[in-house]
Amino acid sequence: MATVRDLYEILGVSRDASAGEIRAAYRKLARELHPDVNADPADQERFKEVTGAYEILSDPAKRRRYDEFGAAGPQGAPFGDIQDLFDMFFGGGFGGRSRGPRSRTRRGEDLRVAVRLPFAGSVFGERREIEVEHLATCGRCGGNGAEPGTSPIACRTCGGAGEVQSVRRSIFGTVMTSAPCVACGGTGEEIPDRCETCFGEGRVRSTGTVAFDVPAGVVDGMDLRVAGRGNAGIAGGPAGDLIVGVEVEPSEAFERTGQDLHGVLDVSITQAALGASVEVETLDGPERIRIEPGTESGTVLRLRGKGVPHLQRRGRGDLYVTLHIVAPRDLSKEERSLLERLAELRGDPGGENGAAPRGLRKPEYRS
Ligand SMILES: [Zn+2]
Ligand SMILES: [Zn+2]
Repeated sequence: MATVRDLYEILGVSRDASAGEIRAAYRKLARELHPDVNADPADQERFKEVTGAYEILSDPAKRRRYDEFGAAGPQGAPFGDIQDLFDMFFGGGFGGRSRGPRSRTRRGEDLRVAVRLPFAGSVFGERREIEVEHLATCGRCGGNGAEPGTSPIACRTCGGAGEVQSVRRSIFGTVMTSAPCVACGGTGEEIPDRCETCFGEGRVRSTGTVAFDVPAGVVDGMDLRVAGRGNAGIAGGPAGDLIVGVEVEPSEAFERTGQDLHGVLDVSITQAALGASVEVETLDGPERIRIEPGTESGTVLRLRGKGVPHLQRRGRGDLYVTLHIVAPRDLSKEERSLLERLAELRGDPGGENGAAPRGLRKPEYRS
């Protein structure tokens, strides 16, 4: 950082100069050094110094603080003030820190769509193709917004600088301010012959097919990002992304918790009593399971690896089948007499022949 000279020295006044003397000294110097009348970079630098010195010495509080602490005082305040003031006048656009025109190039916007997946599709993944309406680069002008054979030119209002400078009078003398050019939106470019298709936008509405893979194990409510399939960029900028919100249709057969699936299998009283080998429908097709003789309602069987694949790693969750023993409600005459015979054989109390009251026991809870 350049050494900061003594502020009184910069203005050429003595340390006990009056407010009037300081103002007069500043006005004289500002007239000589103002960038509007003086293009020499050294003088522009000096103008900056003079203005900053005046800003501090003309303010009694700042002058007192400067007298007390000097330029490198608390928070290095005076030097910061010089910069702030300079920025205020020139919008940071002077003294070799020019911003230049703002580029027209912009990234395209992201787009959001929703897809609905069948339950099995969410488990195993799916390739999907969807129609998406988006803004595509205009084919007629190639995105630059100008009619074929013509091209954008430097803005005639700002000369391509992207900002317009104006000089106004203030208590400091004349000062120059700069503001973004309204004619070109600060881009420094103007399109004299606008493209007939996109009217200079460089993009047109279009419908296209986007294909993407839904990964196996995807969860309801998850967002998938398809890179580069959103709106086209502006003036050569990159395209935005397509965000696909996934909705999974609930399954009639399975409840999903994490990567595991849960289902209930109805078992008859005879299957539960005698045991059976039955086939159940899993997402991978029929699977044979064994019901042991004497199975109780609520028994849970685990089918390893028949659950949902992990999204980020190998392997799958399990399928848990809860056995639910169903009492028959549609007994034929013959079935009824068979069951009555069984009840008799087992000595089960039933109907009218109430025996001694039965004892209860505490419920058993399964995890
Ligand atoms: Zn066009
Ligand atoms: Zn302009």
